[in-house]
Amino acid sequence: MHQIQAWQMHQTAQPLQQAKLSISSLSADEVLVRVSGCGVCHTDLGFFYEGIIKACRDESIRYAFERQTFGKPIAEHQLVQQMIAHMQQNIDIGELLVLKAGWLKNQGIRNARETSMAKWYCTEAANRAANDAVQIHGAYGYSDEYNVERHLRNTKSAVIYEGTSQIHTLLQAAYAMGKRKDKPMRCEMPAYDPDNWQAERSK
Ligand SMILES: Cc1cc2nc3c(=O)[nH]c(=O)nc-3n(C[C@H](O)[C@H](O)[C@H](O)COP(=O)(O)OP(=O)(O)OC[C@H]3O[C@@H](n4cnc5c(N)ncnc54)[C@H](O)[C@@H]3O)c2cc1C
Repeated sequence: MHQIQAWQMHQTAQPLQQAKLSISSLSADEVLVRVSGCGVCHTDLGFFYEGIIKACRDESIRYAFERQTFGKPIAEHQLVQQMIAHMQQNIDIGELLVLKAGWLKNQGIRNARETSMAKWYCTEAANRAANDAVQIHGAYGYSDEYNVERHLRNTKSAVIYEGTSQIHTLLQAAYAMGKRKDKPMRCEMPAYDPDNWQAERSK
């Protein structure tokens, strides 16, 4: 429930004081951590959808070696290989974008632009990968006998929530053209300190 409230708060950009009211059962420290967590949830999403591209790649490769057309596995057809190559390309690019955003956050450096880029790229790439995975599975891909149909449905929602692709496109254009700058936060989160967090968790 709190998770949902935090999410909604992020979508509607409520100020922190109002956030405290809606999450009144949490301590101030917990609220602060969760509010900051909203800032990283785009990064989490990036990781999640990069994982879905990997699932699309693995399931497509497995099926491509099983299914035969024109006397050979479809894995040997170059246009099928092209779809798999694009999945791999997007895994490699997505991983770097997500790791960059996460690294900045761990250093306590503002990473709004980088998390937006990671979310935008990974969710769009996951949607394309799922679409291609359905294509590789042919008519079976359209049925619910294989996972790829579910990946396509799930990845479509991700290009809508947490900022639609169009909104992230506009954000990135505004950053690139110098029309958008991050305002200083009222309370900066410190850099990640593993010793401190482990101690907090064991309390
Ligand atoms: C599966 C799922 C789960 C969700 N979970 C949550 C949740 O937990 N909490 C929550 O608060 N919300 C949630 N949402 C809602 C989600 O955040 C909104 O659907 C999203 O912000 C888009 O808003 P909208 O649906 O009103 O579309 P609209 O704002 O009506 O947009 C429609 C289309 O117009 C485009 N558009 C709109 N404005 C512009 C513009 N200025 N420039 C260019 N294009 C534009 C959009 O990109 C989109 O393509 C969820 C949505 C889905 C699909």
